[in-house]
Amino acid sequence: MRIVLLGKPGAGKGTQGEFLSKELKIPRIVMSDLLKREVESGSELGALIEGYMSEGKLVPDEVVYMVLERGIGGLRDFILDGFPRNVKQAEWLDSFLSSRNMELNAVLYFDVSDLIVLRRMMGRLVCERCGKTYNIFYDPPEDIRKCSCGGRLYQRVDDCYDKILRRLDVFSEETEPLLEYYRKRGKLVPIDASSGIEDVREEMLSILKSLEHDSS
Ligand code: ZN
Repeated sequence: MRIVLLGKPGAGKGTQGEFLSKELKIPRIVMSDLLKREVESGSELGALIEGYMSEGKLVPDEVVYMVLERGIGGLRDFILDGFPRNVKQAEWLDSFLSSRNMELNAVLYFDVSDLIVLRRMMGRLVCERCGKTYNIFYDPPEDIRKCSCGGRLYQRVDDCYDKILRRLDVFSEETEPLLEYYRKRGKLVPIDASSGIEDVREEMLSILKSLEHDSS
């Protein structure tokens, strides 16, 4: 199966993608990890990517495509996270896959309201020592000042109101047209991501099972 994951920041697509990858035994390809790995490899391409990133610029599509092509390699089944980000990239992905006689099976869209995104992200606290995360609304630490390991808790700089709103705006500008693109092609599978992790997980699996059934 070839699956693309889409969702606002804070929709839980990373967590669910990780689970799905284990459950279906399909590798998960995370675009930002691929780029990071390329930079760390010290390759020429990596140096180029690092240049764009350090200037705060977007890595050009052509470079992203090259990295992704290598990341996919000879895989026939994969879960893609963080790509495509816009319609142009989606068109590229379609033609790339069809050149290999493949197509996407499903685009899972983790649907959640902006208000829930705010609660999930603004409420997040991270332990300085062990990296454990809490949420002051859903999963508060026993002592609001420290983790169960005794480490100090802090809020990530990106988890503030203004930055979250900006990321939500970027999402709706870039990704809304992408949803439409996949909806028209009958690939979009919306999943209600406003409930707890377990419920979302169950809904996702039962939908995927019915898809597998349909295609067989
Ligand atoms: Zn801790």
